Amino acid sequence: MEKRDQLYEGKAKVLFATDDENLLVQYFKDDATAFNGVKSGTIADKGVLNNLISSRLMALIEIVGIPVHLVKRLNDREQLVRRVEIVPVEVVVRNRAAGSMSKRLGIPEGTVLPRPVIEFYLKSDELDDPLITVDHIDVFNWASHDEVDQIIEMSHRINDVMMGYYANIGIHLVDYKLEFGRLSSDPDTLVLADEISPDSCRLWDMETGKKLDKDRFRRDLGGVEEAYQEVVARMGLQN
Ligand code: UDP
Repeated sequence: MEKRDQLYEGKAKVLFATDDENLLVQYFKDDATAFNGVKSGTIADKGVLNNLISSRLMALIEIVGIPVHLVKRLNDREQLVRRVEIVPVEVVVRNRAAGSMSKRLGIPEGTVLPRPVIEFYLKSDELDDPLITVDHIDVFNWASHDEVDQIIEMSHRINDVMMGYYANIGIHLVDYKLEFGRLSSDPDTLVLADEISPDSCRLWDMETGKKLDKDRFRRDLGGVEEAYQEVVARMGLQN
């Protein structure tokens, strides 16, 4: 596999073409942003840590039969991934109230939800990722009915895998964001794409409640890199 031109640079990752039109290299940066880019900085080694964490989680999810874009982790900061067309909808799965849900609905942070809640946000920096409904997704053709059904089903199954996995290592999986894409080689197939890491999850230590995720950066709590390292260590991954 030969790495070729840069195709896209996002806030936390860069995508490169390869000599295979259906495969890309996904490179993890140390850059961190919050509040739609209003706050920015770097977290030392974040790219390396998120690459490790996301690779492991995607592999666990693939084992239960959910297709993922990850082919393999190539090195410290890079993954080989299947090329996809990203569905322009961010899927948030919540097990406890926190963040925007607590703010919007006045539910105290940490409140256990009686069942997982799935929310959809339009991927749009200009509009600040507004909360949308399944009807919006349908009428504006952001995804088909069938795709939305698949996304909901996959998200619940991913949640079962992730909740169990994190509970085993003493971490509450509070909430997280998922992205799905259509394979460029087979657009009828939806796969889990992007990343799952402490950048996109809320992870709280079960004993102490300590935040082990990007809220440490968003809320200036300090010890950001150490928190990501702690997740890597608990997951038994080698940095
Ligand atoms: N999230 C994300 N990217 C976004 C928005 C949210 O990864 O653009 C994640 C966030 O890290 C959290 C979950 O989705 O784990 C729910 O975020 P929320 O809606 O509470 O928004 P926030 O409080 O992070 O602005």
